[in-house]
Amino acid sequence: MEKEIDILLQETLERLETIDDAKELERLRIEVLGRKGTIPRLFKQLGESHAHERPALGKILNKTRAHLENAFREAESRTKSFAPQISTLDVSLPGRMPYLGHLHPITQVGSEITEIFQRLGFEVVEGPDVELDYYNFEALNIPKDHPARDMQDTFYITDNVVLRTHTSPIQVRVMEKQPPPVRIIAPGKAYRCDSDMTHTPMFHQVEGLMVDRDVSFADLKGVLTIFVHQMFGQDVDLRFRPSFFPFTEPSAEVDILCVMCRGEGCRVCSETGWLEILGSGMVDPEVFKMVGYDPEEITGFAFGMGIERIAMLKYGINDLRLFFENDLRFLEQF
Ligand SMILES: [Zn+2]
Repeated sequence: MEKEIDILLQETLERLETIDDAKELERLRIEVLGRKGTIPRLFKQLGESHAHERPALGKILNKTRAHLENAFREAESRTKSFAPQISTLDVSLPGRMPYLGHLHPITQVGSEITEIFQRLGFEVVEGPDVELDYYNFEALNIPKDHPARDMQDTFYITDNVVLRTHTSPIQVRVMEKQPPPVRIIAPGKAYRCDSDMTHTPMFHQVEGLMVDRDVSFADLKGVLTIFVHQMFGQDVDLRFRPSFFPFTEPSAEVDILCVMCRGEGCRVCSETGWLEILGSGMVDPEVFKMVGYDPEEITGFAFGMGIERIAMLKYGINDLRLFFENDLRFLEQF
């Protein structure tokens, strides 16, 4: 019997070494230590052995049981440290994709606008956001006492320095530096003290200017018609409506057929069937004189549009402020 006990101990310890699965371990524990296992069976046999052998065998058997119980406890803690990884690792699961951002819708639409004009031969230029009063107003035929200054709620930094209220000063800076011909497109930020559903203190504009000999209103119409068709679709009608800007004469606002109702009349277009998208006109001779161009020799046209406005019409967005709230649920749709 002593031999049997020893073999049981050695065999069980060897089997324990190879087990790293909790279920298998439990099966072995029941087989050896369970109520009907080998050790209880040996204890039962002990009762049938000779009386003089019994104390010594009992001692060995108790020691062996303690030894095995310890060994099982150790094996158990070892399998537990394996178990979580083994049971949760599913190699067939697809990997987690890192979150990728993308360009803001305003940036996307801004690039789309400039690319259309680049294809027409316009060159992209930029100018400073913090601008001199001279470039923002005076050189654009808006002197200090001009009523048009009331059209714009200006952020003044000092009496002579402002946050530009439009991107138009860029055309003056370009014409000062180079003789005609000029064909530029100038995207950028503009600032006005204004905040509601259709105005934000900072917004984006694109300014265009074409100056050369014999540039006519027909050229302006042609260029802007191509733009509208590429931006909103070939089937979108547009119209030119007389308007006023201090730096163009004559001036026209451009409307497109309402993208929501296609001219039927709806809430978005205030039942008119048309939506205003940009301002334009032939450059006022006074502006040419300021930059040293001869208005007898050359003519030109200019236009400007709000990028937010174009994006809202293109995507059917009704609140301008959505663009600046940085809500990912909104931005992820673009
Ligand atoms: Zn409409």
